[in-house]
Amino acid sequence: AKGSAGASFMFFDIAMNGASRARLDAEQSLGKAITEREFLLEYQPKFRAGSRQLCGFEALVRWERPGKGRVSPADFVPAAERTGQIKALGELILDIATAQLRAWLDAEGQVLPVAVNVSPLQFDDAGFTSRLLALLDERHLPHDALEVEITETAAIGHVDRVLPQLHRLRKAGVLCSLDDFGTGQSSLTMLRNLPISTMKLDRSMIDPLPEAQASAVVRATCVLGHSLQLEIVAEGVETEVQAQAAEALGCTQLQGYHLGRPLSAAAAGVLLAAALGV
Ligand code: C2E
Ligand code: CA
Ligand code: CA
Ligand code: CA
Repeated sequence: AKGSAGASFMFFDIAMNGASRARLDAEQSLGKAITEREFLLEYQPKFRAGSRQLCGFEALVRWERPGKGRVSPADFVPAAERTGQIKALGELILDIATAQLRAWLDAEGQVLPVAVNVSPLQFDDAGFTSRLLALLDERHLPHDALEVEITETAAIGHVDRVLPQLHRLRKAGVLCSLDDFGTGQSSLTMLRNLPISTMKLDRSMIDPLPEAQASAVVRATCVLGHSLQLEIVAEGVETEVQAQAAEALGCTQLQGYHLGRPLSAAAAGVLLAAALGV
């Protein structure tokens, strides 16, 4: 009996080592990728409802693995959050986005806001907001050239850490938007107390449009958003029917494959130049 218990313990131990080794490998390759800056941003255009004029971009991260191709954020952002590496990655993303804003501002003399996705873990660090503002100032960028996107779930789940920093960012003029709205459970009170400038209606709210129930929910949400003087972005717009429904129901901006896919920085720059030139 003693022997078999020892054997199963040893087996368990080996299995654990296998799992932690796999995890260590992933951590090391992600860590190395951050040091080597193997990441780039794509920029998905956002358009004003009605006029369909370009009004900004959302920056979306991609991992360009040498010899292995492009990895989607869905496949490494959750891992980076588990290991805490999202903090270093998040700083790299802000560095790339603000450098791009600087380049566009130099080229065009004006710029439209770029929204960057921020993980709630980045707010754990009390220095986050100060570093972000210092980066904007170092690059002589107007604070409202940058927008910070935080998911509804993250904002609600980490109010203590997120709220004070969001207030500081908003006071300093940085735009703040509540991402994936409709997937979390923010109360009306909470929404009123969040210092945000924009709410982004999740694709799951937009996808069923113009179906009656879904339309009623979007209409009511837009009434709420307007009463709080927020911009309201319809996300994941894939068809003209959805675009027109979102416009009719009160969304103020449209984003989605129907209007524009995420673009390389070069392609986004061409779109920006054309929009600012008109
Ligand atoms: P998200 O912030 O909700 O970003 C929108 C996602 O929907 C993007 O996927 C975008 O490419 C995709 N999308 C845009 N329009 C459409 C459409 O019409 N139809 C469909 N089906 N999809 C559309 P992506 O780039 O794969 O990003 C996935 C998620 O990864 C993001 O969701 C965000 O949560 C996270 N992520 C992306 N970039 C970053 C980043 O820089 N930092 C952090 N922390 N997270 C990021
Ligand atoms: Ca987003
Ligand atoms: Ca979203
Ligand atoms: Ca999402």
